[in-house]
Amino acid sequence: MLPADIMRRLTSLVRQRPETHAELIEWLGVLIAARASATRAQWERLRVAATGDAGLIQRRRSRATRTTASIYDSAASGIEADPTLPYTIVCEDHATCVSVATLGAAREFAPDPRSWCDDCREAAEARG
Ligand SMILES: [Zn+2]
Repeated sequence: MLPADIMRRLTSLVRQRPETHAELIEWLGVLIAARASATRAQWERLRVAATGDAGLIQRRRSRATRTTASIYDSAASGIEADPTLPYTIVCEDHATCVSVATLGAAREFAPDPRSWCDDCREAAEARG
């Protein structure tokens, strides 16, 4: 797990696109070093910061769980997914990713993350 101050500095770094070859090498070096210590959720936040929400189709707070669920075009966002599953639903709070075949399916599942995010389901069960 990366400390909060390091996460802030990394997030600001990845938002700035490298302009020279030397900056690119430094940028990649920092990210590779960060990858070893980042949690999945931290890495997902860095990915979103680096891509500037590329491929984002929809982002909404779920009434069912109070967490934020987004729908991405997998290829445009850089999410590695089976090409037959071109859309990915992401629980932004828990960095859970589920890829689906159609945008219709993504829009159907996104509003209630309890059906596809284990952390959301467990939190909901704990609340009773
Ligand atoms: Zn969740």
